[in-house]
Amino acid sequence: MARNPRFDILFEPVRIGPVTAPNRFYAVPHASGMTNTMPRMRAGFRAMKAEGGWGVVCTGYVSVHPSSDDTPLPYAALWDENDVRSHALMTDAVHEHGSLAGVELWHGGGSVSNRTSRMPPLSPSGVSWMATHVGFMANQRSKVMDAADIASLLRWQAEAARKAQRAGFDIIYVYAGMGYLPYEFLLPEWNRRTDAYGGSMANRVRIVRELIEVTKEAVGDSCAVALRISLEELRGRASERAPSEAHEVVELLADVPDLWDVKMDSSPTDCAPSRFTPEGSHEPVIDFVKRLTTRPVVGVGRFTSPDTMVSQIRRGVLDLIGAARPSIADPFLPRKIDEGREQDIRECIGCNICIASWHDSVPVRCTQNPTIGEEWRRGWHPERFAARGSDAAVLIVGGGPAGLECALSAARRGYPVSLAEAADEFGGRLRFETRLPGLATWGRVLDWRLGQLQRLTNVNLYAGNELSADDILGLEHARVVIATGARWTRSLYSTLELPVGELAGPDVYTPDDIAAGVVPEGPVAVFDFDNYYMGSLIAEQLARSAESVTYVTPAGHASAWTIMTNEQPQVHRALATAGVALLTLSRITALAGGEATVANLFTGAEQRLPCRSLVIVGRRRARNALYQTLLARQAEFAAAGILSVDRIGDALAPGAIVHAVHSGHRYARELDGPVRSAAYLRDGPLLPTPSLLYDDGTQERYPQ
Ligand code: ADP
Ligand code: SF4
Repeated sequence: MARNPRFDILFEPVRIGPVTAPNRFYAVPHASGMTNTMPRMRAGFRAMKAEGGWGVVCTGYVSVHPSSDDTPLPYAALWDENDVRSHALMTDAVHEHGSLAGVELWHGGGSVSNRTSRMPPLSPSGVSWMATHVGFMANQRSKVMDAADIASLLRWQAEAARKAQRAGFDIIYVYAGMGYLPYEFLLPEWNRRTDAYGGSMANRVRIVRELIEVTKEAVGDSCAVALRISLEELRGRASERAPSEAHEVVELLADVPDLWDVKMDSSPTDCAPSRFTPEGSHEPVIDFVKRLTTRPVVGVGRFTSPDTMVSQIRRGVLDLIGAARPSIADPFLPRKIDEGREQDIRECIGCNICIASWHDSVPVRCTQNPTIGEEWRRGWHPERFAARGSDAAVLIVGGGPAGLECALSAARRGYPVSLAEAADEFGGRLRFETRLPGLATWGRVLDWRLGQLQRLTNVNLYAGNELSADDILGLEHARVVIATGARWTRSLYSTLELPVGELAGPDVYTPDDIAAGVVPEGPVAVFDFDNYYMGSLIAEQLARSAESVTYVTPAGHASAWTIMTNEQPQVHRALATAGVALLTLSRITALAGGEATVANLFTGAEQRLPCRSLVIVGRRRARNALYQTLLARQAEFAAAGILSVDRIGDALAPGAIVHAVHSGHRYARELDGPVRSAAYLRDGPLLPTPSLLYDDGTQERYPQ
């Protein structure tokens, strides 16, 4: 199909200093979890975005020097020639598709702990980030940078820029965002200096200007030099010379960089979850930048709609449409718009599982796109599938995320597919979960798959069909896939931090009961040791009708795992706004006589909580009775034409939606393939040549 002329503007080239982006689709720097130890996976992952039409494809953060060491988080480095070769794999792969490659050079300053390099972290005034969450917490504080340190920083940036140029990058960043070193100079809380780098805004911005200048000197004739800067905090600060300190900074640096890449200050606002924040949330902070510079401006906002993108450009907010998450959920988003296939875009749902992958220090995962990170090691392409290996008809039982994804991927391979769902509507857990406060956008997991399935001729969809073992044996499908999901249990929680027993009683409920329409009588206690979104969402929802709701958890925070998805600060705000009382480090051990017994996790000290109804959000158990019944009748398979019966998704091992989608996809990809379980290529660093590192930052090849 032809492109809609309304979207032509998105495909105009944009000049960025000495280079030209072929269109306005800009995959901004974002961590991928694939460091220099996984260079082939990283190259495959970034190249897929270029193949999908992103005119610029950037790396994640790349350390300029070992004094910027973010271990255990997965950062990349450009410290020596091994690193140059490692990054060159990516730039070559990106260039093959005609896109530009960008690199975000980075110094973490007082926000890193140098756990591996064991160098003292550096900061403008010896202030360090005092994060209260494990993983970011550290007990190493930073050294106040002296004049020599500032000179070193400028030299490291210039040297890394030259290495980046040798690695083939076209756009080289100075990164003044998110609490990292140059950003620390901008804010007086970090910067208490009395020299030329502290005090007035002109002084505080000096290091950023100098970093841009040395980068330009190093590579500016052939590479563009971009400034990535966080403006949220500065935008809120009054200035005597301009509408805000953010305006002042942009005025001072107006045409110094070749490109402005503008963003928010903290991960939860920069990469905000859809549960709390709509698309385009950066605009009120960054909308003024274009008026103060002649250089192109790129920004993000979880943009998936081409009309929104066009509006950003026409209204003079952005020149380039930046994306991290939308380019993960659909690396082929630009190509689909170009080909008039907007309805095929697999839109990001804003769940932030991808961010959690970074916090987990593993290769990026995505709820919507199971192929992400699997391009090289499993050979999965998001749009192309190997043809079917046989004529086998595939019957999938259960139309939740796992079943839907399995059906779609198997059908794309050309298998005849039948998908049966007991309920009148497809969606599985999504039928309930997308009705919880803030989760409507997650419905895209269902809508996209169902929309795609409905257009395929080799798929039969049967909603309202609960299949029994007899039904399945009579249906003559060679491949049977059980995707019947999981059930929540009434398990309690032991002092060994394990689910134990089950609490029986008419007033004890699970999320499945709430999904079925039960309205518990108040006062209600929600006991959550699942620790993801379900517990806090049920508490928030029930607080709308119940007289009193208390959220009880053995963890230290509500929905403790949501620290990984950038949701936790907002979870606490939402519970407080809804009037939900909070009891942490606590276990519920009993419910009787209108009271719940609550024990402190560590001391065992008990208290009584007024409680008519208890909702336990803890353990989930695979719903695989159907699978077990079928297995017991294995002797009948041959006569029924059945070659295999397998489980996928929650029916195999209960997890988050991302796990179910990946599981369904993997089954379809591997159907009729070689029977091997750990079927992926293992990546490793490129020809590691040990190098000696001197205190002044110079490095030398280690004599072998
Ligand atoms: P997953 O996350 O693994 O996809 P879900 O719980 O979201 O699992 O979806 C499982 C789906 O399977 C539910 O929609 C449920 O109604 C359906 N299901 C369960 N048992 C049967 C059955 N015997 N026949 C058809 N559908 C079933
Ligand atoms: Fe979007 Fe979720 Fe995928 Fe991240 S994991 S890109 S937020 S759908």
